[in-house]
Amino acid sequence: MTRKYVVIKPLIAGNWKMYKTSQEGVKLVGTIKAGVHSVDDCDIVICPPFTLLSTINPLLDGTRIALGAQNMYVEKEGAFTGEISPLMLKDLGCRYVILGHSERRQYFGETDSLINKKVIAALTFSLIPIVCVGETLPERESGKAKETVKAQAEGALAGLSAEQFEKLIVAYEPVWAIGTGKTASSGEAQEMHEWIRALLAERAGKEIAAKIRILYGGSVKPENISGIMAQPDVNGALVGGACLKAESFIQIIRGAKKKELTC
Ligand code: PEP
Repeated sequence: MTRKYVVIKPLIAGNWKMYKTSQEGVKLVGTIKAGVHSVDDCDIVICPPFTLLSTINPLLDGTRIALGAQNMYVEKEGAFTGEISPLMLKDLGCRYVILGHSERRQYFGETDSLINKKVIAALTFSLIPIVCVGETLPERESGKAKETVKAQAEGALAGLSAEQFEKLIVAYEPVWAIGTGKTASSGEAQEMHEWIRALLAERAGKEIAAKIRILYGGSVKPENISGIMAQPDVNGALVGGACLKAESFIQIIRGAKKKELTC
């Protein structure tokens, strides 16, 4: 059966994780800005640590680079020591927020139900959530990858309206590929992205699901970006390690071209 794919402008997001002092962050942004100023066929997001958001926000004025955060809490304000609210992220110029990253799930015990509350809070404050899902190696090896991703997506996106689905981004990040140098093959990525899009279609309808960006994450590098982007259901990438060096991040952005596809 022939399937016509909607061409969505690709998005490349850089997750700085817990790296970069203010001096290092400012230098990195300066080099990225210079390297991507002529790029207009790809949306670019950088997600520095909370400590750098207010420093970096003004540096992005007049550029095509948007600011994102790596996490947030669900409440607008309150006695939640150590947490950051969606209102605070908006105040610092963030447009995006990564939610449910596997490192949050693994080291900080985040559950699908908490992630769901965060997704709803982000949307309420007009932040675009980048909702991460992905299976571990034992889950993949025991044939449970799709089941795991389905449970995560259904849990994290429970109760959303079709209109809310239109505003979010999903990132498929197989845990075994994050920071390991192992990448899912283009075929493995496409198979899971197609599966995720079908799940989204069940919830939000085919037309909306076709327009939702599904990013791939897991050891994305300049050498593998074009193969990943060539997959019809891949609409961009969430990049960890390779976004910490300006040159590799710039090359990934330049390599993230998307062609019109009919498969
Ligand atoms: C990530 O942290 O979201 C990620 C994909 O990391 P890396 O690119 O280093 O695998």
